[in-house]
Amino acid sequence: MPPTPPPEPEWPMPTLNLRVDALNHEGATIFFDSVHPTTALRAAVLASFQWLYATPECAPRNVASILLVLRSMDGVAYTTGSHTEKEIHFSLEHIVNSKTRARDEILGVLVHEVVHCYQHNGNGTAPGGLIEGFADYVRLHAGLSPPHWKREVGKNQKWDAGYQTTGYFLDWIDQRAGAGTVRGLNALLDGKDYEEAMFERLAGERVQVLWRRYKIDLAGGDPDAELAVEESTTDEGFTLV
Ligand SMILES: [Zn+2]
Repeated sequence: MPPTPPPEPEWPMPTLNLRVDALNHEGATIFFDSVHPTTALRAAVLASFQWLYATPECAPRNVASILLVLRSMDGVAYTTGSHTEKEIHFSLEHIVNSKTRARDEILGVLVHEVVHCYQHNGNGTAPGGLIEGFADYVRLHAGLSPPHWKREVGKNQKWDAGYQTTGYFLDWIDQRAGAGTVRGLNALLDGKDYEEAMFERLAGERVQVLWRRYKIDLAGGDPDAELAVEESTTDEGFTLV
């Protein structure tokens, strides 16, 4: 007899609920033609656990239920609700607008929103751009980055510009400082206020220095090159030259 494989880790799966506010909306038809709601939500929960937490023992257990609301609204999606009961509102118009790649877009948006149900946020003190960066970092790792995403940085963009800009940066930090670094950052934000020093503790350098190295790397330069750093009296306390 071959040895029995170890059991799949038991992640704390919440109760999953669905509400459709306009079943006869074209977006609802596309949704049900593209994905199975239970499978799609389950996959989003598992992706969030997998990329935010090393083991089921580390995963938060406060989320008892997630309600997905498909409805007519502006924008793409947002997450609301209480500590224990989460609601994800998803725009039916957005689903219609994405109909040529509806399945990937629906799954990708669900992953992004479910991350908001499970990520730590430093008692609410983590920068909004970092919070959004985590969500798109997980979406990227789930293999659901949309075709318009590019690993690039706008001229004056900061590291916490958010969304895929910060998501790709977090991915680069993981590659540079070791897989699990981003999970470590999420863990540090559990019940403790955000501090920029968290980056230095996990990845060895200040976040602005990492950002500078990331941009050099994207431009095809040597990210390990010595950077001339001058202490100064700017808001950041130092200047990269
Ligand atoms: Zn978001």
